[in-house]
Amino acid sequence: MLMIDCPFCGPRSHDEFSYEGDATKERPAIGGDGDMAAHLDYVYMRDNPRGLHVEYWQHVNGCRAYLKVLRDTVSHQIIATGLPDAELTAPLAEQEGEG
Ligand SMILES: [Zn+2]
Repeated sequence: MLMIDCPFCGPRSHDEFSYEGDATKERPAIGGDGDMAAHLDYVYMRDNPRGLHVEYWQHVNGCRAYLKVLRDTVSHQIIATGLPDAELTAPLAEQEGEG
C-alpha cells in the first residue's frame, strides 16, 4: 500500500487519493498564436517516464486538497509531497539512482 503524506492530514493510504495527472506539463497560452498542436499535446500526449515523476493527486476522501507528489514509477515509492506550487526535489541518493 502506498502512503501519501498529505500536508494537512498527515500520512494516509493512497486509497483516499485520486491521481490527477502529470504535474510537469505546462498549459499553453490561450488565444496567442492559436497553436493547436501545442494544445493537443497538452491535453492528449503523455510521457511514460521510468523513475522519478512529479504528479498531481487530490485527497478526495480527506481534506480534498490538491497535492504535488514526487513518485518513483518503478518502485512506486513516494519521495516527497507538497502543495501544488511546491518545487519538489529528490534527495541526492534518489537522483543518482535515476537513469
Ligand atoms: Zn488531506
